[in-house]
Amino acid sequence: MKLKNLEIMLQRLGGFTKPGAALEQYQTPAPLAARLLFHALMKQDIEDRSVCDLGSGTGVLAIGAALLGAASVTGVEIDAQAARVAEANARLLDAEVTFVVADVQDPYLPARLGPCDTVVMNPPFGAQKAHADRPFIDCALAIAPVTYSIFNAGSGPFVKAYTEGKAEITERIGGVFPIKRTFAFHTKDVQEIEVEILRLTRNR
Ligand code: SAH
Repeated sequence: MKLKNLEIMLQRLGGFTKPGAALEQYQTPAPLAARLLFHALMKQDIEDRSVCDLGSGTGVLAIGAALLGAASVTGVEIDAQAARVAEANARLLDAEVTFVVADVQDPYLPARLGPCDTVVMNPPFGAQKAHADRPFIDCALAIAPVTYSIFNAGSGPFVKAYTEGKAEITERIGGVFPIKRTFAFHTKDVQEIEVEILRLTRNR
C-alpha cells in the first residue's frame, strides 16, 4: 500500500464522540498517523510483527498498523466509549484489531498483554496533567523492544533523560499536528502544534 492510500483510508475513520480534555483525547490526523506507520514499516517494525497501540482512542494507529500487514494488533484504551468507536472503525476498514479497555497505569497490564514486537502510540502530551505520558513510556518499554511515539516538539531531551539506561532514541521525525477547536479553552479554529515522532529502542 502507498502512503497516500493509507492516509485516504485513515481519513474515513470516525472521531471521538465526546472528546474529554482530561484524557487529552485528540485523534491523530491521518497524514501524521500514516507518516509514523510508514516510517515504522520501512524499519521492518510493522509487517508480520505483533503491534500494540497504547491509548488507542478511536484506533487510527492500531487500524493503520493492521492495514500495513501487522501479524496481530492490540489497542489499549481507558475510555470504553472510544474503544467502541475504534471497533466500528476497524470494521469499516476491514482491519483485524483487538481493543482492550484498560488503564496503562495498571501494574498488571504488561503481564496481561504479554510481550509484543512494536508499540505505536500518541499518548497525552501532559498539557492537562503533567507527566501524563510517563506511564505510557513505562508500559511501552515493559512490553516491546521498539516504540514509536508522538510527543510535543522539543520533548527529546526529557524523553532521553526519563529513559536513561533503559532505552535509546534511535529516530526523530518532525511533524505537525493540526488540532481543531475541540474544547472550550481552545481559542483558535485550528492550532498547529509542532510534534516529533520518536523511535525508542529498549536496551538489552
Ligand atoms: N492513539 C489515538 C488517541 C490519542 S489521544 C490516536 O492516535 O488518535 C490519547 C488517548 O489516550 C485517548 O484516547 C485517551 O482516552 C487515552 N488515555 C489517556 N489516559 C489513559 C490511560 N491511563 N490508559 C489508557 N488510555 C489512556
